[in-house]
Amino acid sequence: MTLRNGRPYLAIPGPSVVPDAVLREMHRAAPNIYEGELIDMMPALIDDLKRVARTEKHVAIYISNGHGAWEAALTNVLAPGDKVLVPATGRFGHGWAEVASGLGIKVELEDFGKQSPVDPGRIETLLRADSAHQIKAVMITHVDTSTSIRNDIPAIRAAMDAAGHPALLMADCIASLACDRFEMDAWGVDVMVAGSQKGLMVPPGLAFVYFGDRAAEARARRELVSRYWDWVPRADPALFYQYFGGTAPTHHIFGLRAALDMIHAEGIEAVWARHARLAQAIWAACDTWAEDGPLALNVADKGLRSHAVTALRIGAPHGTALRSWVQEKAGVTLGIGLGMAEPGDPAWHGFFRIGHMGHVNAHMVQGMLGAVQAGLVALDIPHGHGALEAASGVIAAA
Ligand SMILES: *Cc1c(COP(=O)(O)O)cnc(C)c1O
Repeated sequence: MTLRNGRPYLAIPGPSVVPDAVLREMHRAAPNIYEGELIDMMPALIDDLKRVARTEKHVAIYISNGHGAWEAALTNVLAPGDKVLVPATGRFGHGWAEVASGLGIKVELEDFGKQSPVDPGRIETLLRADSAHQIKAVMITHVDTSTSIRNDIPAIRAAMDAAGHPALLMADCIASLACDRFEMDAWGVDVMVAGSQKGLMVPPGLAFVYFGDRAAEARARRELVSRYWDWVPRADPALFYQYFGGTAPTHHIFGLRAALDMIHAEGIEAVWARHARLAQAIWAACDTWAEDGPLALNVADKGLRSHAVTALRIGAPHGTALRSWVQEKAGVTLGIGLGMAEPGDPAWHGFFRIGHMGHVNAHMVQGMLGAVQAGLVALDIPHGHGALEAASGVIAAA
């Protein structure tokens, strides 16, 4: 029999669960884009978007997914032939590097593997070696969603400063914004990209490029920027349509308004603390399961793990079997492994990920863990005992 009928839970690392309050705001008749509420709400929306990223600088909105934000960010500050340094800690660093290559940018890729973070000392060495300052930007993935590694952005900033190198620091916070602590201004980040569908709890379709003053100067030096990706009119529009380079993403704007209201009512510090505590509960369960049998967390050191996503190894075919079981029998959808093995390789079935970003609370996490526990039992996958107790202990101590 199946026990999945009831409210389904999408526990993949994006898109994330959309709150009812966001859905309700989006469920409305098409609004006028020439006058009224939509136009009036923009200044406060922009301010609240900046508060989430802890910045007083600039933000441009695009109707796109994260891949569009990647391209938008690069196009504004880099020219074909410019060089960038891309430290990769999983699939997403490679992805952003590929977008750069497609724009004719020369990529120096430094791969730190799939289980360890970027080494700031190595970045300092590479930047010191670039005495001619040919490297124009360092492109770092804050949380790599494929490996669940969280990189230490202040340490990378410090390494760049120690090397006395003027490259821009560009950060991909698509998986981390409003989940893991991120302080754009205090951390000296020049450009940051984010999307609507992860920590921001809105359906996919909006992307955000935040930029500081040094990045604005780099943009001013560019001779040609594609009109659609140009962040100048979007960040400082004379007319409403310029925020979006055309027709506004009407319903997404109302959804985003509701999501930002939720985030700021809770308080961004409390949002970060909630993600941290729920992540610790998930790790406590996973560490317990890992005491016996094939399950292992991809990142051994807790201090290097994202609070928004957890990547796990469990050996083929258990990963796929477990995902199928919890979906079919318990109504919980877990994430596939990403970038760990090629699709088609039998090893691909040995990985999965848990998304715990955005609209997620203690009972959702406990329910998801309970479903995984039942799956381990049903599928006869050896595992340590007491995982749910361990998770409860973390939640009880909150
Ligand atoms: C999801 C994600 C992306 C890609 O976003 P899309 O909306 O799928 O284009 C890029 N980087 C990171 C870190 C992500 O988590």
